Amino acid sequence: MRRRDAVLAALRDNGASRVLDLGCGGGALLGALVADRRFTEVVGVDVADRSLAMAARRLRLDRLPERQRQRIHLWQSALTYRDDRLRGYDAAVLMEVVEHLDPPRLPALEDAVFGHARPGTVVVTTPNVEYNVRYEGLGAGRFRHADHRFEWTRAEFAAWVARVAATHGYTATVGGVGDDDPELGAPTQLAVLTRTDQTGPSTDRQTEETAR
Ligand code: SAH
Repeated sequence: MRRRDAVLAALRDNGASRVLDLGCGGGALLGALVADRRFTEVVGVDVADRSLAMAARRLRLDRLPERQRQRIHLWQSALTYRDDRLRGYDAAVLMEVVEHLDPPRLPALEDAVFGHARPGTVVVTTPNVEYNVRYEGLGAGRFRHADHRFEWTRAEFAAWVARVAATHGYTATVGGVGDDDPELGAPTQLAVLTRTDQTGPSTDRQTEETAR
C-alpha cells in the first residue's frame, strides 16, 4: 500500500493526467488511478491475458457507466516491443515489473518505453535486495517472488536509472519506500525519471521510426 501511495504521489506531483500502468498485473494500482478524477485517461498494459482479465474484473469494467468506461483502457502488449499506442502519455508506471524480465531483455524495454513511448514522467519501483535479510524465511540468495529474474542493490538500481536517464534524455531522482533501515535502506526502491525535452519527440525521430 505504501508503494502504491508513493507512486500515486509521484504522479500527482508531476501533474500527470493521462497515465500508463505498464505491467499492470491484476490492477492493484489501476483501481487507485481510476478512483482519482485527476487521471483523465488510465491505461493498463500487460503481456498476460490472465492479468488483464483480473484487472477488468477488479475494475468492474462491465458495470461502469459509459463515461467512466471511456477513461480506461486495458491493452495486451509486450514491453520489449515498440508499441505506437503507448506514445504521447504524460506518465508511465513500471511498478515491480523490471525484475520480471531476463536481464538480456531489459535493453528492449528501455528502448520501447524510454526511446519510443517517451512519456513525460516514468515512475519505476523495484525491490531493494539488500533489505531481504530483514525478511524472515527468505534465505540468503533467495528473491521475494519466484518469477523475479534478479533483484538489485541500491547501487545497481541507481546505476541503471542514471544510464537510462542519460541515454534517453531524462533527469532522475532515486529514493526508497517503506521503513528505512540505516544500513540496508528501504524495502522498495523508487525512481522518478522526467523527460528533459517536454515538447515531445522530434519529427526526425518519428520519421526514422516509421522507416523501421
Ligand atoms: N505492477 C503490478 C504487477 C507486478 S508483477 C503490481 O505492482 O502489482 C509483473 C507484471 O509484469 C506481471 O503482470 C507480468 O505479466 C508483467 N510483465 C512481465 N514481463 C512483461 C513484458 N515483457 N511485457 C508486459 N508485461 C510484462
